[in-house]
Amino acid sequence: MDLSMNERNPNAEMVARDLDCVWHPCTQMKDHEWLPMVPIRRGAGAWLEDFNGRRYLDAISSWWVNLFGHANPVIGNAVRRQLETLEHVMLAGFTHEPVVELSERLVAATPAGLDRVFYADNGSSAVEVALKMSFHYWLNQGEPGRQRFVALENSYHGETLGALAVGDVGLYKDTYRPLLMECLLAPSPDAYLREAGESPADFARRRAAELEALLERHAGEVCAVIVEPLVQCAGHMRMYDPAYLVELRAICDRHRVHLIADEIAVGFGRTGTMFACEQAGISPDFMCLSKGLTGGFLPLSAVLTSEDVYAAFYDDYTTLRAFLHSHSYTGNPLACAAALATLDLFAASDVLEKNRARAAALRAGVAALEDHPHVAEIRQAGMILAMEMVRDARTREPYPWQERRGLKVYQHALEKGVLLRPLAHVVYFMPPYVIDEEEIALLTRTAIEGIDVATREA
Ligand code: PMP
Repeated sequence: MDLSMNERNPNAEMVARDLDCVWHPCTQMKDHEWLPMVPIRRGAGAWLEDFNGRRYLDAISSWWVNLFGHANPVIGNAVRRQLETLEHVMLAGFTHEPVVELSERLVAATPAGLDRVFYADNGSSAVEVALKMSFHYWLNQGEPGRQRFVALENSYHGETLGALAVGDVGLYKDTYRPLLMECLLAPSPDAYLREAGESPADFARRRAAELEALLERHAGEVCAVIVEPLVQCAGHMRMYDPAYLVELRAICDRHRVHLIADEIAVGFGRTGTMFACEQAGISPDFMCLSKGLTGGFLPLSAVLTSEDVYAAFYDDYTTLRAFLHSHSYTGNPLACAAALATLDLFAASDVLEKNRARAAALRAGVAALEDHPHVAEIRQAGMILAMEMVRDARTREPYPWQERRGLKVYQHALEKGVLLRPLAHVVYFMPPYVIDEEEIALLTRTAIEGIDVATREA
């Protein structure tokens, strides 16, 4: 929409107020001297709309949280109904129906053996809970020497200090290194790194063997291995074969080490199955959930674990074996109501089956990039599809990060009414499960154009 000089520009007014007082996440605020901020007034389905009435197709589900569309009425009405009876009560010493029902349904929906649910209110906090619980479990079992965590290279588990410590994305981590506990890094099974002629499964097994060697070198020191099952999302959407998880489960059992599955980004159908662990047929000792848990409506996270872990904390108070971790908004009823409505939406139609057609359409839509001189790989796990932009597709020579070519894709897409937010030079789709054929066509066409524009200059 064009606005003449004299007309009001509600976008500009909102942005001016914003820039006066808001400090945005994951942003160099100085960029906004030349990079326009997008103020959003409302959302509907896969679309967001700004204050001037321009619409943007949300191809990344607003940081991967939205599952069934913005302002989804089923979830909205559930939250509204809950609002009328109970907005919040602390969860220590008290309980409420939404948290009880949600726990029952999460236990039923997740892999076997995950029978206890502990709540927090964001993904990073769930990771902190899992790390603390694992360490504390071993302490309660009389193994205080287990104090270390194994994480994968290129992993990401959040931004709080504990979660950051078990991540390996330098951009977020390096600055804070002096503050962080040191974790043990195992080589990533990321299939992009495999040798020519090696299958992703063989590479995964080779990398699993290297992780086992690491555990052998640190026998008796390790509490848990933490992984993002199948897709290292913030680590440029790098993907790996489920064979890795099969091996990892067996290795963790052999070395009596916990396995923490961070399904915060990949859970709730993103990779094609309800939980990514299902593709390897494994149950972790801890599963962290957030993001899609509430359909993208409200902050909530859950850590599921086993009866065995629960039992290690269950004792007389004076033994001081209890898990005394807490967040004020733990198990908030409004967020639980949103989560229950989200599970209802999964139950109401065969979402995962319908997503198979959507996933195929996403892939078919970018087929033209297969021979692109600046696209090294198109990879996909269910509803996550990523395209690796490089200087030279044959040698896979990357673009220097300073060139910020992903930002050019972002800008081009915004002009075309699509919200794409590449991770450095990796352009990806992770759309809500309401995206239709026409929207997929717009999305894939825009991504191809954006990649052409961003890679045009040498
Ligand atoms: N783990 C993973 C795998 C994630 O992708 C994220 C968020 N991008 C987090 C943890 C952290 O979640 P939150 O941003 O809610 O703290």
